[in-house]
Amino acid sequence: MSTTAAAPTRVLVVEDEESFVDALVVSLEREGFAITVARDGVEALERFEQDQPDLVLLDVMLPKMSGIDVCRSIRSRSQVPIIMVTARATELDTVVGLEVGADDYVSKPYRFRELVSRMRAVLRRRSTQTAGPGSPQGDESPPGGDSVLTVGEVTLDVDRHECTVRGEEVKLPLKEFEILETLLANAGRVVTRDTLIDRVWGLDYVGDTKTLDVHIKRLRSRIESDPSNPELITTIRGVGYRFESPRQ
Ligand code: CA
Repeated sequence: MSTTAAAPTRVLVVEDEESFVDALVVSLEREGFAITVARDGVEALERFEQDQPDLVLLDVMLPKMSGIDVCRSIRSRSQVPIIMVTARATELDTVVGLEVGADDYVSKPYRFRELVSRMRAVLRRRSTQTAGPGSPQGDESPPGGDSVLTVGEVTLDVDRHECTVRGEEVKLPLKEFEILETLLANAGRVVTRDTLIDRVWGLDYVGDTKTLDVHIKRLRSRIESDPSNPELITTIRGVGYRFESPRQ
């Protein structure tokens, strides 16, 4: 356990598989987390209101109310970090595509170490966001300049979280926005998979890179004229991705 006076991080584990949940709780407690368990979607929302956890680990397939609906409901009133757990890797694509506002995704079976790394990564990102410089309230104008990235027909206003492609506004979920931001800031250069994962998911992301592929695919489906033949974000096989700079 922690030797500091800091309160342990409280995690709401929403999971209905009895065989799975006990071992998970014991392992997470050993890592120093304080765990509350909910075994269906309705109980998850009740526990969330009562306990105000620091992080939610949310299974997708749940009795009474799906993890998808639970995630949407929590997100409508809280920015708490949420990691969604899908039953199979094939389900991951679908769940990511629904854009329910989760911070990260893992699919069963996962390695416990990988789960803990992702939990720590989302917690750290959230705490740096909250402790951001100034964090002014209200609709103060962004300082401008550097916050707008334009390459060819793609423009990203980072402060306003707005993306415009060929004159049309495109809604991007946070992770896809961050990936695009990293690629645009390095337009014309290859950004390695590791760099993208570090920038977008945190330095200690140790899982497989399937999640990156899923997000790139989603991003292409939104900004490419022909997503099956991408011309903006090209794959550099075995290395990473490049946002193509138009020739002047
Ligand atoms: Ca389940």
